[in-house]
Amino acid sequence: MTTPRTNLLDFDAAGMAAYVAGLNEKPFRAKQLLNWVHQRGVSDIAAMSDLAKTFRTSLTDRAEIKPLPVIRDEQAEDGTRKWLIDVGAKDAVEMVFIPEDDRGTLCISSQAGCAVNCRFCSTGYQGFSRNLTAGEIIGQLWYAEHELKKDPNAILRLEEYPTPGYVYSGRVVSNVVLMGMGEPLLNYDNLLTALRLMLDDNAYGLSRRRVTVSTSGVVPMMDRLSQDCPVALAVSLHAPNDALRDQLVPLNIKYPLRELLAACERYLEFAPRDFLTFEYCMLENVNDSDAQAKELIRLLSGIKCKVNLIPFNPFPESGLTRSLPQRVQAFMHLLLDAGMVATIRKTRGSDIAAACGQLAGDVVDRTRVRERALYEQPIEWVNR
Ligand code: SAH
Ligand code: SF4
Repeated sequence: MTTPRTNLLDFDAAGMAAYVAGLNEKPFRAKQLLNWVHQRGVSDIAAMSDLAKTFRTSLTDRAEIKPLPVIRDEQAEDGTRKWLIDVGAKDAVEMVFIPEDDRGTLCISSQAGCAVNCRFCSTGYQGFSRNLTAGEIIGQLWYAEHELKKDPNAILRLEEYPTPGYVYSGRVVSNVVLMGMGEPLLNYDNLLTALRLMLDDNAYGLSRRRVTVSTSGVVPMMDRLSQDCPVALAVSLHAPNDALRDQLVPLNIKYPLRELLAACERYLEFAPRDFLTFEYCMLENVNDSDAQAKELIRLLSGIKCKVNLIPFNPFPESGLTRSLPQRVQAFMHLLLDAGMVATIRKTRGSDIAAACGQLAGDVVDRTRVRERALYEQPIEWVNR
């Protein structure tokens, strides 16, 4: 049996340095490799012209830049683009690119499926299959950036890159959000490698405030992230009290609101901005009443934050419905009147099921969540 080739996409700067040292090469080779792979998007080792020919030959024998097997590529009417990626064993994950005038946001996945099993999320509904490797996580940015760049009109002119006043005209993806499939903080080590590459000047050089990790609240890992790589953080809240959050986000049973909010406060000391984002998925007659808005205001008083209200994107099995637009507005106005910062997330790409929570990929359900749900009692929503 031949040994599988090493995927160079799996290495951040430290990993690449260790890898080249193991091949008796000088440390600066690591930088050159990162540059070829991530900045220039070159996947053919033989084409890396400033590496010695002998090094290229030995590297070709043992390493590769493993391409992501893209099995579907769709474009929505609003320009949103969605790719389906085959991650083997009949599993697939999705990533979404959302172009706007002044930014290009790539929403990427961290796991095939998700074990947290939030009631309103189609990824959770499928159960958990496996963690993505670091190469599969960063590979999404690698693929999207270099694929999109093929269209010169897609390239952004960002006034602040790399410093304010400097017009950087080489980038398509300016922001990355880990809001695709999976719970990023339950795949911590691979996430960290990928985040380090996003920030590395020899790779993508994104600023910490342009990279956002969204979490359902894995408290110990929030603390680790604050020390290892404090990028922007979004916390999926969805309920103003433990009784309801226990039902919507089952991880709340393990890390209840008091602990979660204390972890948020600790994170804020290291965060790249002086506020955190709380996501709140608006579910009709479940978490969208005036009383619940007031409870949310009390809960978050004292925490520097922005509340992002996400109109629920329905999927057939959820049995839940989206709050009416006027309800979402009324809820937002209660928050605003209390002096909070609150916004309503625009739905993008819904015609190709690319909006929040619609990313189902095609993960084979090995945890039988779907089957279990059929036998579950209908949920009696608390706190109405
Ligand atoms: N696991 C992480 C990141 C992925 S989900 C997390 O939960 O934060 C990204 C965001 O989409 C989360 O805020 C999640 O609650 C939200 N979301 C999930 N399903 C949704 C749906 N059906 N409609 C609207 N938002 C949804
Ligand atoms: Fe997992 Fe996030 Fe979906 Fe919850 S909302 S099931 S944590 S992906």
